Amino acid sequence: MIDYHVHTMLCNHATGSMPEYIHQAIAIGLKEICFLDHLTINPLGKFLSMTPDEVPVYYNAIQMLKQKYKGIIKIKSGLEIDFNPDDVNLVEDILGTYSFDLIGSSLHFIDDINIVSSSSPWKKGKENTDSVFSLYFERLSEMMEYDYFDVVCHFDMIKKFGRKSYKKYDKEIERILSVMKKKGIVMEINTSGLNHPVMEIYPNKEILKECSIKGIPVTIGSDAHRPEQVGRHFDKAFDLIVSAGYSHVTVFSERFAGTIAIDRIHP
Ligand SMILES: [Zn+2]
Ligand SMILES: [Zn+2]
Repeated sequence: MIDYHVHTMLCNHATGSMPEYIHQAIAIGLKEICFLDHLTINPLGKFLSMTPDEVPVYYNAIQMLKQKYKGIIKIKSGLEIDFNPDDVNLVEDILGTYSFDLIGSSLHFIDDINIVSSSSPWKKGKENTDSVFSLYFERLSEMMEYDYFDVVCHFDMIKKFGRKSYKKYDKEIERILSVMKKKGIVMEINTSGLNHPVMEIYPNKEILKECSIKGIPVTIGSDAHRPEQVGRHFDKAFDLIVSAGYSHVTVFSERFAGTIAIDRIHP
């Protein structure tokens, strides 16, 4: 198995050194680990992310670790970009300078609403649930018009705090998945949701099933912000992936996709 979504201290809200994440991955028998730390340009989230100036330090650190652990574990370099149409040009400039293995894209902010922080008014029940859900899927759909990324991270993150929308978003989701299929975008299976109030993997079973029917490839990530979270809940993810009909997960090298067979890990 692989863990394609782990953070570093550069984002200011994760702990542990990069080798500690790698050691945990080795200890539980992972074949690959991908650092996918935050790059958020939006002023609302820039303190929860590395700055554009820090990208070279981050990138070079991973290159060194790749060499150091050669033959022991494959280490991949990536970024989790916060989608914001205003920032796409800057993001593309930054990405053009490096050969990252994988770029993920996600939403943590809907206009000025923080939908992920435990201290956010959204978590405390503020804002209208239906209108924020609608905006979330609108933004996700808008994100699909861009081409700077390979993977959609935590597709249905809006459910994080267990808030439920009255309206169903099947049609919107179906449209987004169709674009993903057409463009060859990969769906991330993100196990962090099991530690959040919703207690569910992102995306949910129904969405994953639809991905499988459409032939959208998947990758898997723990979204670890601490070394001990590497590979968390991968037993449950394994069951989910297999029951949705998948036998392989996607791996990346310099933005090119390949596949490896999924296997159980024994933490
Ligand atoms: Zn984070
Ligand atoms: Zn994220």
